[in-house]
Amino acid sequence: MSDNPTATLYIVATPIGNLSDMSQRAIDTLQEVDIIAAEDTRHSGTLLQHYSISTLMISVHEHNEQQRSEVLLAKLQQGESVALISDAGTPLISDPGYRLVSLVREHNIRVVPIPGSCALISALSASGLPSDRFSFEGFLPSKQGARQQVLTSLANESRTLIFYESPRRLQASLTDMNAIFGEDRVACLARELTKLHETITTKPLADLLQWVSSDSNQQRGECVVLVEGVQQQKESSEIEINNMLSLLIKELPVKKAAALTASLLEVSKNTAYDMALKLKQEAE
Ligand code: SAM
Repeated sequence: MSDNPTATLYIVATPIGNLSDMSQRAIDTLQEVDIIAAEDTRHSGTLLQHYSISTLMISVHEHNEQQRSEVLLAKLQQGESVALISDAGTPLISDPGYRLVSLVREHNIRVVPIPGSCALISALSASGLPSDRFSFEGFLPSKQGARQQVLTSLANESRTLIFYESPRRLQASLTDMNAIFGEDRVACLARELTKLHETITTKPLADLLQWVSSDSNQQRGECVVLVEGVQQQKESSEIEINNMLSLLIKELPVKKAAALTASLLEVSKNTAYDMALKLKQEAE
């Protein structure tokens, strides 16, 4: 564990499905701390039993986090060590723990992460979508109006978007994404990661929606939805357009030169035509 395990809050990642994804450092930490603060003590009991860990557990979930954080702070101030775990994956990532960590840090007590599984990172790493820049959006609102509003606000985002989604709302969310982001936008559905029925499928939104709608098995289990960011239009500068038109109008009729420029430089035909006409008139 650490050189000074006392008065430290450890943030310990646990598996998101496959128990073998538990790191040795995570096991050692959970064995050696004085208290494990778990989101659901019964759920985590299975994991601890698997690794023969008998450390005392107390529950810290979204409804008691404020009050339990004070209790845990007092324990840390007395020199005890605490490990925070959630039901699966990395605590604080769409899981409780933020209030506890910020309170503990405010009191200058050491917080140590013990990294491991995280559904969004696993999904991104295998999705085939750009991974250099991404935006994790957590869960979308369950009500359609609010969900559509959030999706509309993200329609021009150029980073890869990552959402956690419940299987019950998957089809409805994909339908809204298809309507708001456009059916050609490439997306990935990463289901049941690290488990027996793991599926990671990347296709244009229209095809993904069609596939999920026609196969109810794809609407089961846990899932992450990733959507590629909007492609930045390569805007050609006015100088580039003028240069090309100047060359072409020497050899071709204005209309033809404009059409060729429009398709090569991704500029509208009307703009290219107006510019070509102006150049032609200036040359005469
Ligand atoms: N803290 C967790 C993490 O590090 O990923 C996330 C907790 S959040 C309450 C649970 C959501 O994470 C699920 O609804 C699903 O969207 C995603 N998730 C968790 N495990 C998953 C898995 N094995 N496969 C796909 N998605 C998963």
